[in-house]
Amino acid sequence: MSPHIPQELEGIYNAEEYARQQAYQRANSRFGIVSGGFSFAIVLLILMFGLFGWLDETLRGYTVHFLLLPLLFFGILFVGGQIVDLPFDWYSVFKIEDRFGFNKSTYRLFVFDFFKQLLLSAIIGGIMLSAVLCIYQYTGKWFWLWAWLVVSGFSLLVSFFYSEWIVPLFNKQTPLEEGELRTAIESFAQKAGFDLKNIYVMDGSKRSTKANAYFTGFGKKKRVVLFDTLIKDLETEEIVAVLAHEIGHYKKKHVYQSMIISILTMGVTFYILSLFLNNLPLSEALGGKIPSFHLGLLGFTLLVAPLSEALGLITNYISRKNEYEADRFAVQFGLGDALVSALKKISVKALSNLNPHPLVVFWYFSHPTLLQRMNRIYKTLCFCNL
Ligand SMILES: [Zn+2]
Repeated sequence: MSPHIPQELEGIYNAEEYARQQAYQRANSRFGIVSGGFSFAIVLLILMFGLFGWLDETLRGYTVHFLLLPLLFFGILFVGGQIVDLPFDWYSVFKIEDRFGFNKSTYRLFVFDFFKQLLLSAIIGGIMLSAVLCIYQYTGKWFWLWAWLVVSGFSLLVSFFYSEWIVPLFNKQTPLEEGELRTAIESFAQKAGFDLKNIYVMDGSKRSTKANAYFTGFGKKKRVVLFDTLIKDLETEEIVAVLAHEIGHYKKKHVYQSMIISILTMGVTFYILSLFLNNLPLSEALGGKIPSFHLGLLGFTLLVAPLSEALGLITNYISRKNEYEADRFAVQFGLGDALVSALKKISVKALSNLNPHPLVVFWYFSHPTLLQRMNRIYKTLCFCNL
């Protein structure tokens, strides 16, 4: 690959960093092809040998209970999938991220994270699946409507308490320390009408040197979280600009918007799922002899992949639009230049690909590229100065 810097990136990457960026992207895309190809081959082999049906039949030898059988069935598939993914996750963290100086995780932390995530997904997934199974058992025709209501309510509950229940299992969140940064943020938060109590610093440096910030929760539980790595890498005004962007997401009601979208998506998904359940040809295609809820759900998941891809396109489009909106919010507070310089630092440090093919951006990216955001911010700046 040539270390020649494309014209549009001059002044952002220097030759040496650009060569590193190219090597990092290359390593990641190779890794993506190998790990993606491997998972695909495994699913294909399982389907060819009818192993889903074999698992169903074997488990039926032990129990046919309407809750236990599907919970065991999905539990085994879930744990199996996690074990297959484990060496790939390990390689990504300790070979790729480590080689480029991003990794801060240790073997011990990695193992703890793995088991904590496994347990957490098992609990949350187990509760949701049991609820859906009970509803399916007792409601009949209107199954999809009840399942939609209950699962939506449960996910709202989890996202409401996300920062208090789930994040502390993995990271420490502390209020902003006294000092120059807190004073600067305080004066901005006042102008923007956002309570300083809702701003936290998180020890992201425990796992990676990459900098980040996010907005989460709603109502009383809303909060902006700044990674300690972000605070270390950026100047005070740049941090305020990033914070302004995150508060922009809140002020423009992006959290509510994405909640509504995901609830609607869930409704459509449950309705289509209800058409698939207890379907004999589908169960047979998976190697099963008896139509069942779990084989129907599994077949549905495999078959609706194109639908999820299409929905992903729409959510990515909306998310990119929201990023521009949050940037504009920061610009309106006179933080445009600081935001550009913060975004440049974050992207260069993370060795991001700054000039991906427009189709790749359209298909996969939830955020516009740095250059797109810079252009839009400068345009807004000109407009504001008129
Ligand atoms: Zn954003």
